[in-house]
Amino acid sequence: MGDFDGLVAVVTGGASGIGAAIAARLADDGARVAVLDLAASTDTRHLSVRADVSDDASVREAIERVVDEFGRLDVVVNNAGIGAQGTVADNDDAEWTRVFDINVIGMARVSRAALPHLRESPAAAIVNTASIAATAGLPQRALYSASKGAVLALTQAMAADHIREGIRVNCVNPGTADTPWVGRLLDSASDPEAERAALEARQPHGRLVSADEVADAVAYLASPRAGSTTGVALAVDGGMQALR
Ligand code: NAD
Repeated sequence: MGDFDGLVAVVTGGASGIGAAIAARLADDGARVAVLDLAASTDTRHLSVRADVSDDASVREAIERVVDEFGRLDVVVNNAGIGAQGTVADNDDAEWTRVFDINVIGMARVSRAALPHLRESPAAAIVNTASIAATAGLPQRALYSASKGAVLALTQAMAADHIREGIRVNCVNPGTADTPWVGRLLDSASDPEAERAALEARQPHGRLVSADEVADAVAYLASPRAGSTTGVALAVDGGMQALR
């Protein structure tokens, strides 16, 4: 018996990295999973729906397609997100708007489209992928950190709004995780191997977080086992938040 037997989950950004690990973990635990992503999911167990979380019509169509296909919706994992580097002076208005549109409003859009269906579920849960950047004050990450801080605030506000409807809302705060995103950042360095070693050395536990470790945390928060847990941010960061 899996925690998600009979349940249906949507994972945004589930075609790569952390989202792909989450989608796989929920499917392993019995969920029927729909991946909403700009890219196609390569995991043939999932319903792969091309969707852009920055486009409201695309999101609404995707959620309706999932409910048409599976007949219900119980779990939403708002994981799609993009990065941004630099100080507050380095990104112009267009870049601030673009990142917030995907990282913050994207999560609100998907939640808004899903809420009528979640209200029908006896096991409704939303889990948002925030970041250690929501709480840690990382250098050269002003825009990204602001967007993830907003995800944390959105999580807490939604938890308060929807607990009486039986819908729990939590988030995970991953530290630097070993995903294609971080791979791309390392590849752009002059010495990727040295850069990776330096990055690992900066983590309290001396290595990057694995996508599967984040997926385990998301699966717990999304499952009925966390039935009394809402409005929390679960750090998956090797101790970065606690030790800073
Ligand atoms: P990734 O780039 O490997 O995967 C992100 C996925 O999101 C991709 O499949 C991409 O196509 C999809 N996506 C991007 N924009 C989209 C849009 N507008 N609509 C639909 N899908 C879209 O990244 P990742 O490292 O797996 O990151 C996933 C999440 O985890 C992000 O929210 C990120 O901020 C967060 N996070 C990552 C790290 C890390 O170190 N990798 C740390 C903390 C938090």
